[in-house]
Amino acid sequence: MRAGLIGGKTIEEWTNRVPILKKLIDEREAFWLNPDYGENWNVSVTEKELMEASSRLKRFAPYIAKVFPETRVTAGVIESPLLMISRMKRLLEDRFQQKISGEVWLKCDNELPISGSIKARGGIYEVLKHAESLALQNGMLRMEDDYTVINSDKFKKFFSNYSISVGSTGNLGLSIGIIAAKLGFKVTVHMSANAKAWKKDLLKKLGVGVIEYNSDYSQAVAEGRKQAEQDPFCHFIDDENSRDLFLGYAVAALRLQTQLMALGKMIGKDQPLFVYLPCGVGGGPGGITFGLKSLYKENVHCFFAEPVQSPCMLAAMATGLHENVSVQQFGLDNETAADGLAVGRASGFVSRNMKSLLSGIFTINDESLLQLMKDFWQAEKIFIEASAAAGALGPISLFRTGLGLQYLEEHQLHENMKNAVHVIWATGGGMVPERIKAEYLSG
Ligand SMILES: *Cc1c(COP(=O)(O)O)cnc(C)c1O
Repeated sequence: MRAGLIGGKTIEEWTNRVPILKKLIDEREAFWLNPDYGENWNVSVTEKELMEASSRLKRFAPYIAKVFPETRVTAGVIESPLLMISRMKRLLEDRFQQKISGEVWLKCDNELPISGSIKARGGIYEVLKHAESLALQNGMLRMEDDYTVINSDKFKKFFSNYSISVGSTGNLGLSIGIIAAKLGFKVTVHMSANAKAWKKDLLKKLGVGVIEYNSDYSQAVAEGRKQAEQDPFCHFIDDENSRDLFLGYAVAALRLQTQLMALGKMIGKDQPLFVYLPCGVGGGPGGITFGLKSLYKENVHCFFAEPVQSPCMLAAMATGLHENVSVQQFGLDNETAADGLAVGRASGFVSRNMKSLLSGIFTINDESLLQLMKDFWQAEKIFIEASAAAGALGPISLFRTGLGLQYLEEHQLHENMKNAVHVIWATGGGMVPERIKAEYLSG
């Protein structure tokens, strides 16, 4: 039975020690509070790095505006709207017979320019950073230059000596593929079996090399990493361990802060902020959580959402085993309609950094995900992909579960919940072809 041990313990020992794992094994929706939340700030990434990432994106903004005309309205800043969704709030309250105190907003990363998902933050940032360091090292560019010079044959020819590769369930590959091809890099995307066909087709059209696997995301990443290691001119974007991806996502917090201020929201003790983030391997939601905690400290409360079939971050954090545990070890198959969240093993880099920052995690089944996706369309005429709908269960879970209420009690939040700002992070959907959208909405 040795092979059946998880971190040296049997499944029974685990469920006795960490009861929520029983729900995880039974594929039931669960709400978990992080017992280490609010302990000593123990994070390996710094606020200085966050500010540097933000400055780097500013340096690139003129280039981005030039090569992606859809970003000209924001002067080359890749950003999405923050929308009040009162119709969706009412629909949620009716469907679940549960009142939500406070306002409900949607962070529309499904509308992010260039690649229509949250990956247009981290993925594009890491490619830009890599391009910048190559150009700086080779004397092609100085930091004070106008970066529009990058849009030239000279730079394209230079970057064509280098390649970039990445493992992906779909959206990361799309973001990296689009920006890296635009700069002139050779690009290879290692796609897991659950990646949607239309995502692969789109990349192939851009001239990106797509390698398909019959296995899940972790395997695609491992193969990609192995192949890239043999090539000194290849930069592998390591979704499981990348500081740069994490920081690119984290910049979203600064942008959200600006949007909230413009709306007159004064986040603080009297007006707490709750953010609900769909989680795959963890980089996107983890980076944003890090950014938000840096800005708002104890006045922001971040929760991750995961499918019941792929609760990899919950498994990583509740067991404390980080990257040394997969959902498959608990008998789950990692098959979900939320393809962007179909990850069986979390990033240990992210799970460790979330130890003191993350308030909790809830899980959601496919039926609810698909229903919420349709609800967004019905109530707000906003199309988001299944993965992106996961966060919408957040405000409901907070108020209707014993543990959610316990959280509000423990942090003395009850009194100010009427002023609370709930932000559901819609992480993707902007690139889904009309034909596929219609299938989702009718199915
Ligand atoms: C990638 C992705 C996520 C989660 O990001 P991770 O960094 O993998 O945790 C959420 N939603 C969508 C639509 C995604 O593509």
